[in-house]
Amino acid sequence: MVARPDFPKTLKEFRERFSQEDACFEYLASSRWPEGFVCPRCGGQACWIKTRRFEHKCQSCGQQISATAGTLMHGSHFPLREWFWAAYLVATHTPGMSATQLQRQMGCSYKTAWYLLHRLRRAMVNETRSRLSGRVETDEVIIGGPVRGKRGRGVTAAQHGTLVFGAVEVIAYTNKHGGYMEKAGRLRLTVAPRADAGSIRRFLEKNVEPGTEIGTDQWKGYSTTALAGYRHEHQHPETHALHIHRAFGNLKTWLNGTHHGVDPKYLQNYLDECVFRFNRRKTPMAAFQTLLGLATRSKSP
Ligand SMILES: [Zn+2]
Repeated sequence: MVARPDFPKTLKEFRERFSQEDACFEYLASSRWPEGFVCPRCGGQACWIKTRRFEHKCQSCGQQISATAGTLMHGSHFPLREWFWAAYLVATHTPGMSATQLQRQMGCSYKTAWYLLHRLRRAMVNETRSRLSGRVETDEVIIGGPVRGKRGRGVTAAQHGTLVFGAVEVIAYTNKHGGYMEKAGRLRLTVAPRADAGSIRRFLEKNVEPGTEIGTDQWKGYSTTALAGYRHEHQHPETHALHIHRAFGNLKTWLNGTHHGVDPKYLQNYLDECVFRFNRRKTPMAAFQTLLGLATRSKSP
């Protein structure tokens, strides 16, 4: 894990600290080089700092390194402080944010808010993340479908609901009285065509480490073929899949409450955002850095 520079804890602190481009530039540099400048070409440790161009220049070989290289902000004409502000709002606003909300908070145009949000959302997908392991609960849920008596924008137009597979890690721990406790670890959610053994197999292979102990209900889709290579337990109907059901419940509340229903075409994007928020719910600073593309060199959940 890469050491992260310290991070403002409140909105007020954030606004004060990152009100100028220079401060954002310094933050980018300390994210890239927590231990101080190192030239990526020759390894030299002395540099000139060109604050106005947001560049570091190596004193040994002359290599110039842009502060935004490899980040979401590279090549954008928006000021760094606008990106920082948008990423902070999106990362710390727990139920997520619509373009209209972001527009209001930032005092920018709707077009700008939409663009920033779109880019930040894309940064929520991490294809290189590691698979779930340990103990995992999996299940499926139907999202959306016809909504009676509701019309207008945002109401899902699907004839049928959309099938979603979910998997969540279950982490056991002991509370201060010595009692057995469980909590949810990382989450994965994927739109699926069917709940047959082949689809389940593909979902598991992509998202869950082989050898993991998987808890499911009695659904026949979870066949021996689908579960080959995993340890499997059918759970008791009453305690069955408590954590994944809770995650599905939160997902539905979030989709209906914040977004007032979602077009099935875009459902996977919303699932990605839901997973991103869930997995980083206790680390807003990591969320902020991931959104801006600052943490790509470190392992992230
Ligand atoms: Zn150099």
